[in-house]
Amino acid sequence: MKKYFYTNGVDKIGPFTYEELKEQNLSRETMLWFYGLDNWKPLSEIEELNSLTNSIPPLLKFSEIINTDNSNNIKKDFIEKVITAKNPKSRKKSKTLLIIAAVLGVIIFVGYISIKNKKNNMLYNSIATNSYKTDVDFNFYVEKFYRDIGNYGIFPKKPKNQIIKFSKLDQLDNATHIHGLSYGMNDDDKIEIYINPTTWDKFNKPMRYFLMYHELSHDVLNVDDLKNSPSNEGKLMYPAIFTYESKTMDDFIESSHSLFEEIAKKTKK
Ligand SMILES: [Zn+2]
Repeated sequence: MKKYFYTNGVDKIGPFTYEELKEQNLSRETMLWFYGLDNWKPLSEIEELNSLTNSIPPLLKFSEIINTDNSNNIKKDFIEKVITAKNPKSRKKSKTLLIIAAVLGVIIFVGYISIKNKKNNMLYNSIATNSYKTDVDFNFYVEKFYRDIGNYGIFPKKPKNQIIKFSKLDQLDNATHIHGLSYGMNDDDKIEIYINPTTWDKFNKPMRYFLMYHELSHDVLNVDDLKNSPSNEGKLMYPAIFTYESKTMDDFIESSHSLFEEIAKKTKK
């Protein structure tokens, strides 16, 4: 049977059969891949999945949302409903609510829609409540990160509120495997990162550095993911760093430093 994968912008999630895929909270823009496909493609461009695409409402336009009264309250309500809606019967409804919640949630921070944020809204509650502290010295990576960017003349405010914890990101609904998530992006008053303990065990040393610096770049430098295309392979903000098994510490240093150099150039202008 044909198996499909989709990506939340960070990870490859799946495999799913067609029937299982229908149960995922996909948008028409979600990038999918299956064996035989050269590259990731948005759902809406995959002909054999047309009937699935047509069952998903298109995302609301920015202008349609900002004209809605009390959009902030609506956002909170919808998110709460999405999180509490757990039984399968309410799934269809929750899918629609989720899309609305995602759109409303995202415009406040970035002004456009991303799959990653849609997922974040849905998962945030369970991730935060299931998180726990560990012996892993995440602070070591944070200190090193700030030293490294400091060497490039980048000195962002260092927030007192720093949450970096493990959370079992692979035991959540609709998430087969997520390696790490950052919630502090575009919020300079906090660092909030959750790392999947299963990933941490599996990842070798360079991959752990790639993962930590990737999430810290989101969180501290507000850098977005790069497109999941072969030309970005090897870079720090490449969304599929789980493919970096053969990368070395030298590769990591080169990738991170070239990103910092790029950011330093931009801020000088
Ligand atoms: Zn990322």
